[in-house]
Amino acid sequence: MAQHLYLTKVTHNAEKKEILVEFRNKYNKIVNRFEFYPFLVLPKELEKEQVQDLLLSIGLKGFQIEKKNKYLKIIASSFSELKKISNSLALHTGKKPLTLEAERQFLIQKNWTYFDSFIFEKDMPQKELEEKKDVGFLITKEIPFNQAVELDETETESLVEKFSLSALLRIPLEKVPASLQAQTEMLLENIFFSNGKGILWAKDNSFYSAKEFAPYGVYDSVSTIDFSSAWPKLITNNFFNLGIDTINCSCCKPIKLNDTNLLPSALIEVEFLEDAFYFESTSITFALKYHKSNPFENNRKEKKKEFFMKNYPVGPFFKNQKTLLPINDAKKLLDEKKVKLASNHTPNWFCKNKESFLSKAIRKYTKQGFLLSSSFSTHQNTLFTKNDSSYYFTSALFKSINALVQELPFVLVNPLSSFFSPLLANSILSVQEATLFKFREFSEKKGYRILYLNRKNAFIRGFSSLSLAKSFSKETSLPQPKIHAFSSQTTLG
Ligand SMILES: [Zn+2]
Repeated sequence: MAQHLYLTKVTHNAEKKEILVEFRNKYNKIVNRFEFYPFLVLPKELEKEQVQDLLLSIGLKGFQIEKKNKYLKIIASSFSELKKISNSLALHTGKKPLTLEAERQFLIQKNWTYFDSFIFEKDMPQKELEEKKDVGFLITKEIPFNQAVELDETETESLVEKFSLSALLRIPLEKVPASLQAQTEMLLENIFFSNGKGILWAKDNSFYSAKEFAPYGVYDSVSTIDFSSAWPKLITNNFFNLGIDTINCSCCKPIKLNDTNLLPSALIEVEFLEDAFYFESTSITFALKYHKSNPFENNRKEKKKEFFMKNYPVGPFFKNQKTLLPINDAKKLLDEKKVKLASNHTPNWFCKNKESFLSKAIRKYTKQGFLLSSSFSTHQNTLFTKNDSSYYFTSALFKSINALVQELPFVLVNPLSSFFSPLLANSILSVQEATLFKFREFSEKKGYRILYLNRKNAFIRGFSSLSLAKSFSKETSLPQPKIHAFSSQTTLG
């Protein structure tokens, strides 16, 4: 059997314009040199000549532009030159191209990552898929891996987790950030960079979403239905195909109210047929926003109290008054013949032709996670022996992938993230709210009582919530939420 070596270190020598890569196993160490020029990528929609003229006109010279399949690649003579180019493009186009560290760019370009397995043919490294990686000697340097596990399993596991994140994010071990949010931000850097997408330069502060609320107290027989695993699925093209490249595309503008690619964030203009009319919105965010920015605040406060409503009602509206409502509200009121359709809509939709790069990335990582989980569950008893480092490494990779993918939607709706875009964030939130609203309606129809609903969890009173979650996903064709925990006593708030 060929001896595998693992990629352990990448260093950039800017002066010599090269990258040094170190490969190791228990017995050997090989260092290879690669010529390397730092680069950045731009959307392929930009014209090569235009970008070239722009950069030349501001006095930049040390660069070369290549037209690739997915993007325009600008190669710079040095990293400082690259930063200048990125800053100039940000000022002139409003979007800042990402410049990652040279080492990470190199790994992305090669499609390599830390702890990948390699064999050497004629002194050249060839990446190989190896199911059972023997990386324990790298993780616990002084003592054998199995001894480290026996001494302190928790500590060893957290060490292995760091190794798995270094591999997934293509960054050196010592640069793995502590918070899941910061780790996910790095994952997004890699995803955006590989797709030639820059980040928004000008920040928009008008974004707004409803805060969560919770009743306080201790409840009996409460189960938690966890939606976190459903949110990334909703972004993929199996459901809403969300992304900065697919929302409000030019090729699929909807023409009818029932077109399947309309997003719940679409606003439809309706005309009211009754006086002093109130209704309960399907969107908490819309209800709150409406409440804060429209007259008759006190009337809504009183109504809310009077009818023990969880959220502010929307209204009052008067006969012949026209207004924009979220599409799900508009459809409901049209069905109930409380309004008629007007004509000045603000639709939001997703593309039916092209898959968003975010969807592709989520599906890729989900598949990778699935392959890892099946490899360690089928081999748990045969291939892996107790305290085997490859078992720990594989399961840490699986856990890290899951955690990162589940965090993605939360980072994308966070205005503090570099990857925040109001249109995408709005669409993600509207899809989540619509799902939760459907779930609430569905559960109540089946006799369950929802005590509390936030963006991650629904707390439900009643037994057999697993069958509720299953039938919900079956009847609505939405992803099935997970039953997180069941306890006889749960404290909320
Ligand atoms: Zn389209």
